Amino acid sequence: MKTTTGDQTIPASQALFTRAEQVLPGGVNSPVRAYRAVGGTPRFITRAQGSRVWDADGNELVDYVGAWGPMILGHRPPAVIAAIERQLASGLAFGAPTALEVDMAETITRLVPSIEMVRLVSSGTEATMAAIRLARAVTGRARIIKFEGCYHGHGDSFLVKAGSGAATFGTPDSPGVTPSTARDTLTARFNDAGSVRELFASHPAEVAAVIVEPVVGNMGVVAPAWGFLQDLRDLCTADGALLIFDEVMTGFRLARGGAQEKYGVTPDLTTLGKIIGGGLAVGAFGGRADVMNPYDPRDGKGRINHGGTFNANPLTMAGGIATMEQLTPEAYARLDALGDRLRDGVRRLLRKKGYAGQITGTGSLFWLHHTKKKLSDYRSARPEDPKTPARAFLGLVNGGVLLSQRGLGACSLAMTDADVDRFVETLGRVLY
Ligand code: PMP
Repeated sequence: MKTTTGDQTIPASQALFTRAEQVLPGGVNSPVRAYRAVGGTPRFITRAQGSRVWDADGNELVDYVGAWGPMILGHRPPAVIAAIERQLASGLAFGAPTALEVDMAETITRLVPSIEMVRLVSSGTEATMAAIRLARAVTGRARIIKFEGCYHGHGDSFLVKAGSGAATFGTPDSPGVTPSTARDTLTARFNDAGSVRELFASHPAEVAAVIVEPVVGNMGVVAPAWGFLQDLRDLCTADGALLIFDEVMTGFRLARGGAQEKYGVTPDLTTLGKIIGGGLAVGAFGGRADVMNPYDPRDGKGRINHGGTFNANPLTMAGGIATMEQLTPEAYARLDALGDRLRDGVRRLLRKKGYAGQITGTGSLFWLHHTKKKLSDYRSARPEDPKTPARAFLGLVNGGVLLSQRGLGACSLAMTDADVDRFVETLGRVLY
């Protein structure tokens, strides 16, 4: 096994990518796995343990991607693997209720107080799509408000961005999304309650829901300004729209009760994913019992069509419950300490180098930015020169540190202080 701190070579990944390009569009199954934005060839991963992943060439990487969020305990935590193995001995999928899914639902409703009832699905994308449909069914309204730069999966309604100003109709951001779908998505600016107020004023009693990442993991780990989430709560209540917190990334990441616990604002609906599956495919949406009622399929009640062969898959439930059991208050204190150590180290480094960058984040989530501008929304968090994040990413990965290409990273409980220091040292060799 090769363990390098210098530049890594990747002939095996390159050979696999050549094959992949013949049979998978762009050689990948998700755009974030392609290295199009940074140049180069994606690493093909063969195994993982603790804070490390190894690629097909045997290169070792300290893993700050963590499968894009789920691996908060690190890779192959013994309790999670044991729980999944126990379930393996009993069967993989039944398409019928299990005790495990009741345990999971009880765990979620206990730890996230705004969720009284929950439905389990197989991805965050499914969860957000179902939450929007529910909001439309409950309110009898069509439009939704989302924020520029927030990501809610690849449902049609979310692949929309603002036009020139906040108070405009959406235009499709992706081929295949029809203009009529895009028209129902209004886009506001994060941390700008005024832009939401304007949309409510110009579309009174038309908005079914406001959906927001309460801390925006997908555009620079931008935190909500003081009062912003409460303003959203008040605006939704005043107009009769539902407030949906998309906590697919932040749920069980920032605190057991997610960002809503941290910021003390209660949404009507919450979407979850990633961590609650312990590394297996998952999503969930839930909220007040009266709001969730249309999903009750019993005679006379069931109004919303929603199913799924793999919903609440027993392996996923086993892995997810075992993961959540490990997430004690002490675990979050440790994750916060790792995140703080990393941010402090990077800040010292940036100062020493006189580098025009900054690091944002909260708890174990962070984002390395290559601008000194104050960051509050999508526009301010966009890199001035897209080549700089690419250069940093390639330098880090070649030095044995895996970060997302745009700069998002997450610490795991498997990391040591030395792993965090390694991040800072490697970055020190990359920045100039
Ligand atoms: N919402 C948010 C906030 C996310 O970060 C993501 C995934 N990164 C999704 C929804 C979609 O989840 P999935 O990839 O499981 O479909």
